[in-house]
Amino acid sequence: MASLKLKNIYKRYSGGVTAVNDFNLDIEHNEFLVLVGPSGCGKTTTLRMIAGLEEISEGELYIGDKLMNDVAPKDRDIAMVFQNYALYPHMTVFDNMAFGLKLRKTPKDEIKKRVHEAAKILDIEHLLDRKPKALSGGQRQRVALGRAIVREPKVFLMDEPLSNLDAKLRVQMRTEIGRLHNRLNTTFIYVTHDQTEALTMGTRIVVMKDGYIQQVDTPTALYDRPNNRFVATFIGSPQMNIITAKLTKQGSDLHLVFGKNDIKLPEGKAKKLEGSDYIGKEVLVGVRPEHIRDEAMYLESMPESVVEAKVDLVEMLGAETYLYLVIEGATATVTARVNARSKTKTGDVIKVAIDANKIHLFDKETERTII
Ligand code: ATP
Repeated sequence: MASLKLKNIYKRYSGGVTAVNDFNLDIEHNEFLVLVGPSGCGKTTTLRMIAGLEEISEGELYIGDKLMNDVAPKDRDIAMVFQNYALYPHMTVFDNMAFGLKLRKTPKDEIKKRVHEAAKILDIEHLLDRKPKALSGGQRQRVALGRAIVREPKVFLMDEPLSNLDAKLRVQMRTEIGRLHNRLNTTFIYVTHDQTEALTMGTRIVVMKDGYIQQVDTPTALYDRPNNRFVATFIGSPQMNIITAKLTKQGSDLHLVFGKNDIKLPEGKAKKLEGSDYIGKEVLVGVRPEHIRDEAMYLESMPESVVEAKVDLVEMLGAETYLYLVIEGATATVTARVNARSKTKTGDVIKVAIDANKIHLFDKETERTII
């Protein structure tokens, strides 16, 4: 059993960079925790501090109930899988996988048993005599995973392990790592900059930016209830549209006004804003592409949130179509995700319905979620 606790953790590199700021997190045994964020946000540094490859500048790291700050990496009962696999080129797959166990003076029979078991799980038994250069990228990645598995660690750390694979293999390995997690009943901490990977693999996701945690939540909660504009636009593809609009009171109703467009807020949303300081002010409106539709049934069912749009580009992806729209009052192009059989063409001027039940509002200055 391995739970982890990161308490007020900071990493200050010499030269004045604070890569990780006041990181606080409890990780439960058997979680698949994903650290995600743009390049430079501090996710690798956090992982390396857990592994013991980077000193913790301030704060406490516990694995189980044991303080780990000053424990050597090899004594942490952790295995790490790197982006570049870090296999020894002159050794066979078997020896690569056995290496860590040999160092620990594990008996030969035991090594053999564990390597074969791991190779079986990963379907690389037939490759045990090969050298890494005779393997494909996906096979190398499996060997790297195998090397971690044989150590039977309490915690698996993975730093962008799939980023050197092509798109198809990446999707396949994603499922395999998920399966591995289910099978091994161990804690996984996984670093990626790819929000799709984070959403599909994580049981919980930590979104980071500039060394700070932005939000820790399940994939669904992150998608449906982002804390701020950054999380809202980072999670989800194509990304959430942001439109600046004025929140106005018209009679007893609240409306969002931008350009000549006027969207009535549904009662449920308006209620949450009752007596709010934001009334009469500009706010940021967040709308996911799937909540902007050109189909007749949406236009008919949401007459109070229909706006006119000029179609800048149509992208047909097979199962769905993206429309890139110019809407008066919106400063950036607005993306809509519509039915793949949409008849809309580039250059058309069309009507689209914005599902006002699904919109998010953010403070224009702090960018924090209002509702
Ligand atoms: P990426 O996805 O590009 O790997 P990341 O989120 O993993 O990014 P880190 O590698 O943790 O980010 O880096 C966080 C910050 O710390 C960056 O600003 C980086 O330049 C800085 N940094 C990382 N390693 C060092 C170092 N050894 N010395 C000084 N600064 C460093």
